[in-house]
Amino acid sequence: MPYKAIKEIGEFRLIGKISEIAEPTLEAVPDLINGIGDDCAVYKVSDTLLQVATTDILVDQIHFDLLTTPIKHLGSKAISVNVSDICAMNALPRYALISLAIPPSFTVEMIEELYRGMQHAALHYGIAIAGGDTSSSRSGLVISVSMVGEVHPDRVTLRKGAEPGDLVCVTGALGGAAAGLRLLMREKEIMLEHIENNEPYNRNVMADLQEYREAIKRQLLPLARLETVRFLEAQGVRPSAMIDISDGLSSDLQHICSQSGTGALIHENRIPIHAETRLIADELQQDALTWALTGGEDYELLFTIPKNCSGLIEHSRDISIIGEITEAEAGISITDIYGMTIDLTAIKGFDHFQT
Ligand SMILES: [Mg+2]
Repeated sequence: MPYKAIKEIGEFRLIGKISEIAEPTLEAVPDLINGIGDDCAVYKVSDTLLQVATTDILVDQIHFDLLTTPIKHLGSKAISVNVSDICAMNALPRYALISLAIPPSFTVEMIEELYRGMQHAALHYGIAIAGGDTSSSRSGLVISVSMVGEVHPDRVTLRKGAEPGDLVCVTGALGGAAAGLRLLMREKEIMLEHIENNEPYNRNVMADLQEYREAIKRQLLPLARLETVRFLEAQGVRPSAMIDISDGLSSDLQHICSQSGTGALIHENRIPIHAETRLIADELQQDALTWALTGGEDYELLFTIPKNCSGLIEHSRDISIIGEITEAEAGISITDIYGMTIDLTAIKGFDHFQT
């Protein structure tokens, strides 16, 4: 049988194949409540406590580019993206383990700066960096962060659990991280052009991009929505399903629907998009809605709640109700501002092996 390139099947089918082989057996770990296929694994510690665990890898030239990313920000982002996965389980983060593969050209000061960013974020979220491992790397920098969190069994929220009639909610605004990335990529091109033409390059990238500070910040320094987890608890609302938006609204809503066995209908005019994101899209002749749907890396929370909870979340300016969960047969769609209904599954999010 001929070998198959990973890009032929894509990231999500690869994860499917991995879980067929590595599916945990209940005999080996009777307390494992949820294995591969959610934002975190879930493990029962006691009748009143569950532990959740996640791991995320950041690779040079795949997830970041040190030409446009201050290394301290990168450290902070590595912590935030893991906290975001813990939040997606409606859980609170506790501690992190950090593994690094470091190229020989790196200095001690660079790694110290990376860790200063990590520690800054850890203090912000109230977690501890509790250990890790280091190795040398023959290619670029690789950062792998694993994180453990805690949640009461009555609060834990999986991707499955959405029911027809539930409301689809999203925190914050979308598309900003994609807009910020495009601006940084444009700046990098200008920088490389200067180098190629042997011209001096002395623009201060960050100062030059002041105008679009928010979008750049969304890309370089995303913040996990820990306060939303606390807000939902204070309001007595437990979402029926939840995921964090790392691949893009379209793709992540599809994850909730496929695991819950439902469809969904969302509305373009209710999707929160930052004004600055729209300005950048106009300037770069791109479409802000496409960034919001497929850009990814916004690290906002996407969740569903029973209809009768809508009053409880109306107090939050940070949460928008963008649509409703439907029966599976109705598919997953979006209505545009003219009232036309479009199949959302045709709009793809980020796949690491198919770009
Ligand atoms: Mg996630």
